[in-house]
Amino acid sequence: MRHNAANRRRYHARHRKEIVEYNRQYEREHLIEKRAHLKLCYALRVGKVTRSAYCALCLAAPARIEGHHPDYSHPLDVVWLCPTCHRGIHLGRRRDAGLSAVPVLRSV
Ligand SMILES: [Zn+2]
Ligand SMILES: [Zn+2]
Repeated sequence: MRHNAANRRRYHARHRKEIVEYNRQYEREHLIEKRAHLKLCYALRVGKVTRSAYCALCLAAPARIEGHHPDYSHPLDVVWLCPTCHRGIHLGRRRDAGLSAVPVLRSV
C-alpha cells in the first residue's frame, strides 16, 4: 500500500505537466458532456428519445438506466447502460487512451 502511494507520488511529480493538461482536457470534455446530457434530457421529456429498459452491454434491466454518449456531437445518439457498465466504460476510457477514444458498442 505504502509502496503504491509512493509510486503514485513519483509519477505525479514526473508527469505534472501532462496531468495538468489532461485535467484541462477532461474539464473541456466534461462541459461538452454536460451539454449533450441536457439536450438528451430535453429529448426524453418531449418524447423524441425513449429510454431502453435494458443495458446494451450486459442486457440486465436495472432499476436505473443511464444514457451514454459514444459521441457527444450527437447528443441524441445514446447507448443505454446500467450504472455498472456505464462506470466501467468511463473508467476504461480515462485509463487507457485518452478522452477521445470511443468505446466500441453494439448499437441499440
Ligand atoms: Zn450493464
Ligand atoms: Zn457515459
